[in-house]
Amino acid sequence: MTTVFIISAPSGSGKSTLVARLMEMVPRLHFSVSYTTREPRGQEKSGESYRYISREEFEAAIARDEFLEYAEVFGNYYGTHRSELDGAREKGEDLVLDIDVQGARQLRGKIPDAVSIFILAPSREILEERLRARSEDSEQVIERRLREAAKEIRNYAAYDYIVVNREVGAAADTLAAIVKAERIRRCRMEDEIRPILASFEA
Ligand code: 5GP
Repeated sequence: MTTVFIISAPSGSGKSTLVARLMEMVPRLHFSVSYTTREPRGQEKSGESYRYISREEFEAAIARDEFLEYAEVFGNYYGTHRSELDGAREKGEDLVLDIDVQGARQLRGKIPDAVSIFILAPSREILEERLRARSEDSEQVIERRLREAAKEIRNYAAYDYIVVNREVGAAADTLAAIVKAERIRRCRMEDEIRPILASFEA
């Protein structure tokens, strides 16, 4: 049984680093590589962080109902292809999705037992510092990201877990603990437990 872990956070919250750490720390996780119409940033290569396609290609894929969810974020499309979930299922792995609050809402509708995690920077000031330290964005983009963050944060209550990213090591440990605990909770009646119960009934 594949468990779906949705991770959302305003940009600058340290989500990508945390997700990368989580993938290293916990085995049997499949990271969902999204499709996007935005341009690659810096060192990004297609197939690693994202698969980059044109708006026309994206809209054709929407028409073919190929996405499990998709949303428009900062003027670009982002979407999770159905094949990511199928791939995780085939490998017997759990799926980790780094998606925004709109995508999380759509997925909860389709996969009600998905586990959702919201990552928060400790304060607006720290989020602003982190966005500036990244020095990837213009002043205008930073201002927009901060406004978007304030909006996104209002959705935190819809998530199962909130992780405050005060220190990356501790926050990554918390994420790994959530994944491990959810796995234990879900395997109650699975193959490992059934024979034990049967042995007591004999
Ligand atoms: P960025 O362009 O900074 O990599 O990502 C912008 C936002 O898009 C982030 O909040 C990220 O979580 C979100 N995002 C990335 N992939 C997907 C996706 O497949 N679906 C949705 N709904 N959001 C996504």
